[in-house]
Amino acid sequence: MELFKALGEYDYEQIVFMNDKETGLRAITCIHDTTLGPGLGGTRYWTYEKEEDAVKDAMRLARGMTYKNAASGLPIGGAKTVILKDPNNRVNEEALFRAFGRFVEGLNGRYITAADVGTGEVQMDYVYQETNYVAGTSLKPGTSGNPSPSTAHGVYMGMKAAAKKAFGTASLEGRTILIEGVGKVGYILAEKALAEGAVVIAADLFNGPRERARELGCDIVDSNDLFSVKADIYAPCALGATIHDESLRQMEAAGIKVIAGAANNQLEEARHGDQLEEMGLVYAPDYIINSGGVIQVADEFNGGYNAERAKKSVENIYNQIEKVFDIAERDNIPTYQAADKLAEERIEAVRKTKKVFVNHAKSIINR
Ligand code: NAD
Repeated sequence: MELFKALGEYDYEQIVFMNDKETGLRAITCIHDTTLGPGLGGTRYWTYEKEEDAVKDAMRLARGMTYKNAASGLPIGGAKTVILKDPNNRVNEEALFRAFGRFVEGLNGRYITAADVGTGEVQMDYVYQETNYVAGTSLKPGTSGNPSPSTAHGVYMGMKAAAKKAFGTASLEGRTILIEGVGKVGYILAEKALAEGAVVIAADLFNGPRERARELGCDIVDSNDLFSVKADIYAPCALGATIHDESLRQMEAAGIKVIAGAANNQLEEARHGDQLEEMGLVYAPDYIINSGGVIQVADEFNGGYNAERAKKSVENIYNQIEKVFDIAERDNIPTYQAADKLAEERIEAVRKTKKVFVNHAKSIINR
């Protein structure tokens, strides 16, 4: 891999390689863009076949965070960490994550970490022993806790914005919503939709979540036969890449008009984002509609988490999705491309303000 060439392609700012023989820490923090504020992104603890795969993953995920954070309106930039997990060596996790925390501290606020795949509150508590530049620890005063309710609320707001675009009204009353995956996010989304008078059809691979959804008042459909029912809105809340040639054909037959759900990377390929547009479907881009969790986490840095303030900020997802629709119409592009444009235009506009010299720049971490 030609590292500087790869960094140049999408204008990455910095990669930090961390090595600590004592604890076995081998980690990569990639800071993609800090125009809007310090880079915020979780720490993934994962086994990679090759070191190069870990670098590529950190870079890909960091850039994704720049777009997500920018498009959600947050004053933060994009970054991500991967810690290479060695399946053959038992490590002392406290020591490993404290060592990592010391490196994060060394970045002096250019990077704020949080949990991701393979890490959670316990690991973030270790990190917090060494640095304040961490969110989602149970130890910090004003911590925000489980992000799923905020993610679900954001998806609900984004779904309403998409419904307004498709049906002329943001109300979900009387709409049929098909939720694929009624786990942490999907279940709460179902609750909100039912409370507004929607009919909710839920699918899940497992019996437990299915039964909970049934008790809540959802109808149940087999997850292998998802689009055998008629529905207005499809909410993918399980895994990514569920929007593809075959599912789009099935969605058409099922009468789906809106796609609005929590899953990451919903489009199997970019061309499916063009295809659904040609079919007249309204798509609320995944990384904006599911940004409620990161909005909640970022709120911790406004002098401690405030649930009311965070909720207001999450509700702004409605406006951000509307902005995406406006850009899509203005530039005659599909909504998945408009989401990128929303992020890029915001970053470019703020970048221009940086020509004014200030001795100590204010940011979310020193408020
Ligand atoms: P979760 O694991 O709690 O729930 C996912 C549910 O989907 C599970 O109940 C699982 O059994 C079910 N499922 C898996 N494969 C399925 C399939 N093929 N068909 C039907 N059901 C299936 O996860 P979650 O936290 O609710 O997150 C849901 C999605 O949203 C994930 O893609 C996640 O990456 C994304 N997301 C979550 C958050 C958050 O705050 N939790 C934030 C951003 C994005």
